[in-house]
Amino acid sequence: MSTEHADIAVIGGGIVGVAAARALALSTGLRVVVLEAESALARHQTGHNSGVIHSGLYYRPGSLKARNCLRGYALLVAYCRERGLPHDLCGKVVVATRADELTALNTLAERGAANGLDGVRRIGAEALREIEPEVAGIQGLFVPQTGIVNFTAVTESLAADLSAAGGEVRTGTRVVTIDARVEGLVIDTADGRSLRAAHLVNCAGLQCDRIARLAGVDPGIQIIPFRGEYYELVPGRHHLVRNLIYPVPDPRFPFLGVHFTRMIGGGVEAGPNAVLAFRREGYHRTSFSVRDAAAMAAYSGFWRMAGKYWKTGAGEFHRSFSKPAFVGALQRLLPALREEDLVPGGAGVRAQAVAPDGSLLDDFRIEKAPRMIHVLNAPSPAATSSLSIAETIATMAAGHFELRTAAS
Ligand SMILES: Cc1cc2nc3c(=O)[nH]c(=O)nc-3n(C[C@H](O)[C@H](O)[C@H](O)COP(=O)(O)OP(=O)(O)OC[C@H]3O[C@@H](n4cnc5c(N)ncnc54)[C@H](O)[C@@H]3O)c2cc1C
Repeated sequence: MSTEHADIAVIGGGIVGVAAARALALSTGLRVVVLEAESALARHQTGHNSGVIHSGLYYRPGSLKARNCLRGYALLVAYCRERGLPHDLCGKVVVATRADELTALNTLAERGAANGLDGVRRIGAEALREIEPEVAGIQGLFVPQTGIVNFTAVTESLAADLSAAGGEVRTGTRVVTIDARVEGLVIDTADGRSLRAAHLVNCAGLQCDRIARLAGVDPGIQIIPFRGEYYELVPGRHHLVRNLIYPVPDPRFPFLGVHFTRMIGGGVEAGPNAVLAFRREGYHRTSFSVRDAAAMAAYSGFWRMAGKYWKTGAGEFHRSFSKPAFVGALQRLLPALREEDLVPGGAGVRAQAVAPDGSLLDDFRIEKAPRMIHVLNAPSPAATSSLSIAETIATMAAGHFELRTAAS
């Protein structure tokens, strides 16, 4: 087996890994290599998401999500403009359909203001219908900043920048072992190659906890996969949705509730729900992995989570298997919607870190270990935030890895 060399190995060719690799290569001039298991980039969360450029409305002020979403938003929009990547800052509405949602709607409006969002407007039923004529709500928020984009296209563009900066992306390269005992980490991949790298950045998404363990680091969390299933609106009914229509989210969960999203490539999606998945890369209702299910069953945090949220979880399973139940949730927002207006769409799987006490980690988590940085929780809005997360990682690496930056 031949051994090749890199200054920094980044594991994971989703948008976070590629953006981090690009930022590291541009800021240090060092040789950065991305190792991606699949035959192409963005095959998991990045290529299976809603394609929404989030504004930063939802997140606790001061949290990593709030800071990175706002900065990431600005960087992403500027990047798309500069590179001519299709995007549309079309705005969205968040719709309260019941009086008991108004407190949560107030909290969202306050968070938006605290996070410095301009132009977020509290609106009544009539103004809601001026923006989205088919919506039924008692009150809502209009968020002008929200937009849509294709995150796979952004990832590919970032990868081209990385190559131009002297970096490399290796697809079809699944990391199987990491020897961190030696000077210069030795990373073996399933294609029989071996890479010796001075430093490692783990951006492996649904597998990030396992990559941390392979590297001898206790991640302190476990990834529990939550599948998000979509329906698509049939073309003859696209007119029901102008742009993006969201419900008021349940503040106990990091998921936003099923919503309508106009896609940048055309079409309208409805979803995603959030169903416990028994396979980390399981895109179908019947997907099952003995290894993944056994790992969940062996984790006390999983059982504590199940104890706390079993009722909500059961509801999500019901909506997953019953189209009328899924449509029912959407009809609260859009009463004119009929079951036959929706056809099954794709699905994505969220990598949600769960703590040993059963809580779902709300904020991003990026941890340092000797010679390594591990991204251990990067759920939504990490695609929107990716360029800012990349800056954060590059700054962290400069100090932690004692790197000379290109400017120094
Ligand atoms: C249903 C859904 C909807 C979402 N909607 C939005 C949205 O609208 N807006 C938004 O901002 N965010 C959204 N998100 C979140 C967003 O997609 C993710 O936060 C983001 O894509 C995370 O990127 P990542 O690079 O960390 O992970 P990923 O894209 O999952 O990439 C991780 C990569 O690591 C690779 N990998 C894993 N193990 C190995 C190994 N052993 N060796 C080599 N490579 C490995 C995988 O193949 C994968 O390509 C959504 C997510 C989902 C699931």
